[in-house]
Formats: sequence, C-alpha cells, structure tokens
Amino acid sequence: MTVTATETRGFQAEVRELLKLMIHSLYSHREIFLRELISNASDANDKLRFASLAEPALLAGETELAIWIEADEKAGTLTVRDNGIGMTREEAIEHLGTIAKSGTAEFFRRLTGDEQKDSQLIGQFGVGFYSSFIVADEVEVLTRRAGAAIGEGVRWASKADGEFTVGTIERAERGTSVVLHLKDEAREFLDAFRLRSLVRRYSDHIAFPVRMREEGAASLDYEAVNQAKALWSRPRTEITDEEYRDFYQHVAHDFEPPLAWSHNKVEGRREYTSLLYLPARAPFDLWQRETPRGLKLYVRRVFIMDDAEFLPPFLRFVRGLVDSNDLPLNVSRELLQQNADVEAMRGALAKRALDLIGKLAADDDAGKYAGFWREFGAVLKEGVAEDEATRDKLLPLLRFASTQGEGDTASVKLADYLARLRPGQEQIYYLIADSVAAARTSPYIERLAAKGVEVLLLADRIDEWVMSRLTSFEGKRFQNVTRGDLDLGQIDAAEGARHDAAVKESKPLLKRIKDALGDRVTEVRVSRRLADTPACLVLGEHDPGAQMRRLLANAGQDVPALKPVLEVNVEHPLVQRLEQLEAGEAFDELALLLHDQAALAEAGEVANPGDFVRRLNRVLLQLAALR
Ligand code: ADP
Repeated sequence: MTVTATETRGFQAEVRELLKLMIHSLYSHREIFLRELISNASDANDKLRFASLAEPALLAGETELAIWIEADEKAGTLTVRDNGIGMTREEAIEHLGTIAKSGTAEFFRRLTGDEQKDSQLIGQFGVGFYSSFIVADEVEVLTRRAGAAIGEGVRWASKADGEFTVGTIERAERGTSVVLHLKDEAREFLDAFRLRSLVRRYSDHIAFPVRMREEGAASLDYEAVNQAKALWSRPRTEITDEEYRDFYQHVAHDFEPPLAWSHNKVEGRREYTSLLYLPARAPFDLWQRETPRGLKLYVRRVFIMDDAEFLPPFLRFVRGLVDSNDLPLNVSRELLQQNADVEAMRGALAKRALDLIGKLAADDDAGKYAGFWREFGAVLKEGVAEDEATRDKLLPLLRFASTQGEGDTASVKLADYLARLRPGQEQIYYLIADSVAAARTSPYIERLAAKGVEVLLLADRIDEWVMSRLTSFEGKRFQNVTRGDLDLGQIDAAEGARHDAAVKESKPLLKRIKDALGDRVTEVRVSRRLADTPACLVLGEHDPGAQMRRLLANAGQDVPALKPVLEVNVEHPLVQRLEQLEAGEAFDELALLLHDQAALAEAGEVANPGDFVRRLNRVLLQLAALR
C-alpha cells in the first residue's frame, strides 16, 4: 500500500486520557470492542442509505449494504469492514482524534484516578471506536468516503501512544475497514468458533447482514451470520430478553443493561413502531443542557436521524427509537416540529414512557425503581413543574426521604404518606434543606416529629421550584413547614389550648423582643414548631426560600426583600432567661443572638457574621465570668 501526504498528529488530551483509562479499566470486558465496531459499521451503513435518498449516485451501483468480519491468523489481525458512508481525511482526523461530545472536558475532570470508580464512570461515557485499543496494540483505519474518487482513500493509524498518522491511499472499496493488530494476549479473537459466537451475539439485532468466511479452512465464500432484520420490526414474541438488551447497548452506547423496555406497534390512522428503554444509569452528560437528546428516528426501516425530539425534556433519559410508516423520507427537524402527526405521536410516546416508568414502580422487584429514582428522579421531577398535563400521572411516581424513613434514600411515596396521616391532619408537610441529613435535624420539624407527624425531607436543587407548583394531592394540601403559621391544633387539641395560653402570657415579652430587633423581622410570635430550639425565622408564604434565593443571586438577579417572622419557643430556658432580664443592653444582645442563630438555621448564613461573632463572644465571656 502506497501512502502519500502522511502527517502525524497528537490526540486531543481527553482522548489520551480515555485511552489510558480504558485499556486498564475495561480489560475484563474486552470483547465489547467488537460490539462497538459492529455498531459503528451499522451506523455508517445507515448514514449512507439516508444520504443516498437525496443522492442515489452515492451508492455507485453497490446497493447492498453489509458488514464483513475477517480474522487473519497469520498476520494476527482482525478486520471489521463496512461499505457505508466512509470518511474523508478531515473527518478521520476529527472523528478519530477528538471526542466531540459536549461536557467531555468536565467529565474527565471528574475522574478520580481510582480505577474501580473510574471504570464505572467510563461506562457512562461510552468508549466507541477507542475500545479497539483494549485488544490491539495498533489500529489501522482504511476508509473512502462515499462519492469520493479511488485516489482519495485515507489511511489512519495509531499505536495509542498519544499520536496518530493520516495519509492518502488508493482504495477500491467504499466505506471503512478497521484493522486491529491484536495484542498477543488477545489472539483468542482470531479463533473461528469464539469469534463467530461473539459476532452473532453482537449483530443479531443489526439490520445489515454481517458476513464471515464460511466454516472450513479453505473456503473463500462468505455467509451472513445474523438474521439482518431490524430488531424492532420483528414480532415481540420472537425476541428474547437478551436480544432486547444487546440492542439497547447498540442504540444507547451504554455498558449496563437497561432497567426496562417497551416495544409497541401502533396501527390505524398513524402507523409506527416504538421501542423505548429506561437506562439503569444516568449518562455523564445528563445535566448538560446543550446536549441533543431524543430517540432515533427511522422511516420505514430507513435511519433518518439521531436525537429526534419526541419526548419532553423531563423524559430526556429515555433511549430508543421510533420507526414511522407515514412520515416522508425527507423529513427534517423543522418539519418534525410543525407536523400534526408528529405532535400526536409525541403525546402518545410520552404517555408510553410514563406507563413504562409506572410499571417499574408498581412491580418494584429487587429495588429496581429505587435505583431508577436515584439516577433520574431529579429529572422526572422537572415534569411536575413544567408539564401541567402530566402532573397527575407523575405525582404517584415521586419518591421522598421522610422523617419516617432512614438515611438519604427517597423511598416514601405520597400514598404511603397519606396512609400514615394523623387523625385530623389535612396537610402534607415537607421541608427543603441543603441535604437530607440537614433536614433531619432542622429545628422546624421538632414539634411535628415529637407528635409523630411525618415530614417529607427534600434536598434536590430544583425542589423549591417543583414544590412551589404543587398545591395538593388527593385533597391534602402541601405545606412547607418553614412557612406560615403552623397550626397543629387540628391534630392535637391540647396543643392548641397550650398555645393559646402561651400567646396570652407572652405578649409583653414578644413586644420587648420586637422592639429590640426593629425591622429585622415583621413580627415576633410564639412558635408552634419548636421543641428544643429557642427561636426560628419563618418566611412569608411567597418569600423565596434559601435555595431559591441562592439560585437567584447566582443568576445575577435581584432577591426580593424577605418578610420574616421570628418565632420563639417560650418554654426554652434561654427565652425564659431573656424574660427575666431588665430592659437594656443585655436584653438586646441576647434577643439579637436569638435572631441571628435563627437566621443561621434558616439560610446557613447571617447578614453580618462579624457582629454575630462579637456578640456571641461577649455573651460567652459573661457566662465564663459567672462561674
Ligand atoms: P460514537 O459512535 O459514539 O460517535 P465513536 O468513537 O465510536 O463514537 O466514533 C466516533 C466517530 O467516528 C463516529 O461518530 C463516526 O463519525 C466516525 N466513525 C467511527 N466508525 C466509523 C465507520 N465505520 N464509518 C464511518 N465513520 C465512522
């Protein structure tokens, strides 16, 4: 092979990192390279078939698209070839030298250097072509773009040593051959029997024939080793779970098997097939807003595009495909947005996805739903805030940590909460904090906890936004325990009477505290929520909470002025001590301290930390002098 115009280039830093990490951490799953290469070959054929719709000449008479796999024992090479779209020199440099996914740099910053942990992460990332280097010490890619002249072939080669070379070659065949020069310890992949069974496994669901040499040493003929029928076009009853799982790995480029799937054929006025999967793990870029997401779109078995928007953003983790019988083959993204048929499909697919999630929640075996919620709960919650139409369907799917549960796990559903309502309880109480652990020890739930009233504990970044959209569930109102006047009188009549008495008795004290605090608070009143803490700050029903205030401030927006109320626990010794103090500096100082520590518990900060610390130290000194 004559190679001209050769140049050597360095890999993008992230690729170098990926290669290093992958070779070590994925060694025990090294056969996956074959799945990745067959998957890429299939994608390349798909792309050519799509491009040829507009430009039939690209096929140049070679209309049957296929994949070939060939082992050469003598040379120690394994070759995966397709006759698909191929690559130009620029494309080879771009696609095989860099990683284009958004958020890649961020992803690599998150790697810890701990092999075990990082190998988990690498699965979320999807390694694709680069997985070749797990088994090969040198990889050659020989390719010619469909439509390019024979003299415009490209040879790309690398030994994974940080560099690759590209050169121009003559190449008779269209498409791409990936030639792996296998490492000695990977020669098992040259074994005809082992290879054939792996290829069959990784290609049975692929829509193109995958050809290997016929068995028998001297044979030069090829035979297809797979069914070459698009998996989703086969009847459900004929597809095994293993085939569904393997296909998932092909569409989603995910290492882990999916949690669940739903395969449906819709007939009637609109005809389409959908195959939706719930992944077991969030991809590395789930929170990357600009990453395109969606389902693969096929029209009558012809691949049209990746990431077609058929699902709302709060279902962006669902993977899979739609194959329409009605859409035109030249359908564009723009057309997808305006088409009434597509709009109807969207509604039906979102419903289908929610049903699938609902089913997983209903027959929760071995904690599958718990795992799902951990990975995707925060995304699903967005739907509660964003999508009024599906809110009722979403509410039963929500899971919460609560004062009745333990640890951080969100395992309580709203129905569980309702089943544990105290007689007379009309509210669903919840608290939002920076972490579930912080919520658990929050002063705001002291009395509720003492009365055995359950409180849902929330700590996701978006919880305040989500909860602000919720009014009630099955007739019970949602109540933020840090807001408004928390009346427990309906649950416990004695509590109500005690409170009324305390209010009457404490009037003068409350006034004195208010005078000391000035306009820091709008009111000082007797608390119904506290048991062990002397005071807390209660926001108005419509004041933004600490989480929301931080979001606003970070976004450079004005934070509206708060109208907090100071609630005091008149049974607390500190408050009783305050009552005994004459008007004067000592009284004011203690009142201010109560206020500041309440602010600390509410917001995690005080308006003037310097003042707070000085005041605290003066009181501590006085205490020390008393002993
Ligand atoms: P992914 O497939 O997830 O994009 P890969 O690392 O597997 O990532 O491949 C990177 C890119 O290289 C592909 O997106 C594609 O553009 C190109 N590529 C890989 N294999 C082939 C092939 N057989 N034919 C044409 N292009 C290919």
